[in-house]
Amino acid sequence: MGLINKEKNYKMIKVLVSVSLIFILQSSFAQAKNITGFFERNAGNELALESTFDKNLSKENIGENIKRLSAKPHNIGSPGSKENAEYILSQFKKWGWDAKIETFQVLFPTPKTRLLEMTFPVSYKAILKEPALKEDATSGQEGQLPTYNAWSADGDVAAELVFVNYGLPEDYEVLDKMGIDVKGKIVIAKYGRSWRGIKPKVAQERGAIGCLIYSDPADDGYFQGDVYPKGAFKNEYGVQRGSVMDMVIYPGDPLTPGTGAIENAKRLDRLQAPNLLKIPVLPLSYHDATPLLEALDGPVAPGNWHGGLPFPYHIGPGKTRVHLKVAFNWDIVPCYDVVAKIQGSKFPDEWIVRGNHQDAWVNGASDPVSGLSSMLEEAKSIGSLLSTGWKPDRTIVYCAWDGEEPGLIGSTEWLEEHQKELQEKAVLYINSDENGRGFLYAEGSHALEPFMDEIAKSVIDPQTNVSVFERRKANEAISAAGAEAKKKVLDKKELKLDAMGSGSDYSSFIQHAGIPALSLEYGGESDGGQYHSIYDSYYDYSKFKDPGFQYGVTLAQTAGHAVLRMANADILPFDFTHLYNTVNDYSNDLISLLQKTKESTDVENEIIKSGGYLVGGDPAKKYIVPALKSEVPYLDFSPLQNALEKLKKNADSLQIVFQNKIKANSVDLAFNQSLYRAEQQLLNETGLPRREWYKHTLYAPGFYTGYGVKTMPGIREGIEQRKWKEAQEQIEVDAKAIGRLSDYLMRITTVNK
Ligand SMILES: [Zn+2]
Repeated sequence: MGLINKEKNYKMIKVLVSVSLIFILQSSFAQAKNITGFFERNAGNELALESTFDKNLSKENIGENIKRLSAKPHNIGSPGSKENAEYILSQFKKWGWDAKIETFQVLFPTPKTRLLEMTFPVSYKAILKEPALKEDATSGQEGQLPTYNAWSADGDVAAELVFVNYGLPEDYEVLDKMGIDVKGKIVIAKYGRSWRGIKPKVAQERGAIGCLIYSDPADDGYFQGDVYPKGAFKNEYGVQRGSVMDMVIYPGDPLTPGTGAIENAKRLDRLQAPNLLKIPVLPLSYHDATPLLEALDGPVAPGNWHGGLPFPYHIGPGKTRVHLKVAFNWDIVPCYDVVAKIQGSKFPDEWIVRGNHQDAWVNGASDPVSGLSSMLEEAKSIGSLLSTGWKPDRTIVYCAWDGEEPGLIGSTEWLEEHQKELQEKAVLYINSDENGRGFLYAEGSHALEPFMDEIAKSVIDPQTNVSVFERRKANEAISAAGAEAKKKVLDKKELKLDAMGSGSDYSSFIQHAGIPALSLEYGGESDGGQYHSIYDSYYDYSKFKDPGFQYGVTLAQTAGHAVLRMANADILPFDFTHLYNTVNDYSNDLISLLQKTKESTDVENEIIKSGGYLVGGDPAKKYIVPALKSEVPYLDFSPLQNALEKLKKNADSLQIVFQNKIKANSVDLAFNQSLYRAEQQLLNETGLPRREWYKHTLYAPGFYTGYGVKTMPGIREGIEQRKWKEAQEQIEVDAKAIGRLSDYLMRITTVNK
């Protein structure tokens, strides 16, 4: 369908241009003639190539691969993972790719003992098991990992229980005001609102000796809709497995930070690894959490802490005691990355890297097999192009990563092992992971915005026949709150890329090595409660996520066009004016964050000093008046502002050179290399404070959010954590990085004028 429309548009444009109606055309028409980065004479060939690529994509095939690759549990270290890796390898070879498996040796804990019991006021032994369902054929299989959090410490603890809401720093501030301390206690937190590993990390910082994390029905259970298998949402037994490695320190194999975990790599002692917890952690279903929460006494939780269970939530501590005992096999296991290449015919040393993980917690039909099957369909289609004698100009590298679930292990180890070569050769890394029905979500390096914008305007949404750009925009407009916000969305002419946090395999490419990256996904109409449970199955996926697998094709088109365009572009389509605009927004945002922090601190301190908390609060409730907060100083943002002004000038000048080269049809190897290596100028070799592995000055996962990005993280977290001296130092660090990029762009401009 998309193909027919595109050909029609292409013919129409000639007619319309001749009658001077071009001004009414939307950009989707205009690009039928021009693609950024292509000489006019080559754009038509590229579009024809993409049409042929699209013709080879089959939704039936994607569905069959989802079924096949999720037929057995395939976590890292399992026979299923090896089998899938070998199957993927054989497919790549069959399609004409030069493919191999690269194996790393990495630490991976699996549970040996799991026990949770309430000992007082009533006894309850948690079942810690998801039952098989007759509707779901793979739900009772042998070899499925039991419910656990990988990287929990071994431990045997018994203590009073405290409910800590989502277990984030702001929740503990509420507890502080209520005079509740978790030191020596076991905490129970809800899943959600952050990367799960943040919850036990904060609990540990606060002195707790154990941490339970449960799925509240308000978040992904019956409060959201019918539960599985009738509907998509979590039933009372569903449990979210998952990693609690402190990935915001560094991801990958915890024993080999910064280097590839090859056979003879130097390894840290496990107990010294700085990103591993010291306390035991266990995830729970709401079936198992209910008796514990119901037995809690102590004060009633604040209103917005209550979840979907049918009783008032209390905080504890008190007489409610639990006993938690967990122990793990701390094995070194093989990590199988499938890496497949097609050598570029003109620029073999420029690589377009594409990846999706292949390992799952259990069967993983959605996470990761849906994205993986789209990626394999792209590889098959590219293979068909090869068989017609076509070759990409640049080298294409497709990777199926192992070990993503426990901590982005396969991608991180591969990046670390080949870092020097990748920093020289990788033009960009394109990631995907889960996929489903709905809207395009795209994040990535902001110099790639116009590139991604054109693709989003040319791929057609399978349910509505408008472009995926228009569909996302329309959805944002109807969901925006208030007329002003709606108007803002409607005025949007171009796709905005979101900034990258963490939670999938792009992390090491962009945040450690400064390789430009994109991450693509469809979703928003495929929500459910299957995530990391045994119910993330083919039955669930084909019924609730993407029935008919149409969005599997849409993702393959989106990512596939990105790969092919980058592989064949005459001049690589990086546009640093977009990077400037975004970073300038971040900078203004930080200035206003400081101002708001100053204002709220002043007001808060005034209330404390005037005794307002004592007079205004309920005297019948215990209330601890918070300590006065430190004064917020003015910070000097001028180095940053000056650097940004220079960046704007130099990015604008470079854009003119770019346009001239396109007009002059002049291919230039050195110019292209300079463009894709530019992002590395934004790396700061000493890394972020307290986490030197993260070297990018613009993007990092938040220290206390995990998935969520912190933009210009050094400065932002300095302000949020009230480290004023550090925030000022980080302004200088970021200004220097932006200055480096700016000088670099100026040099390219001067050389190429
Ligand atoms: Zn995933």
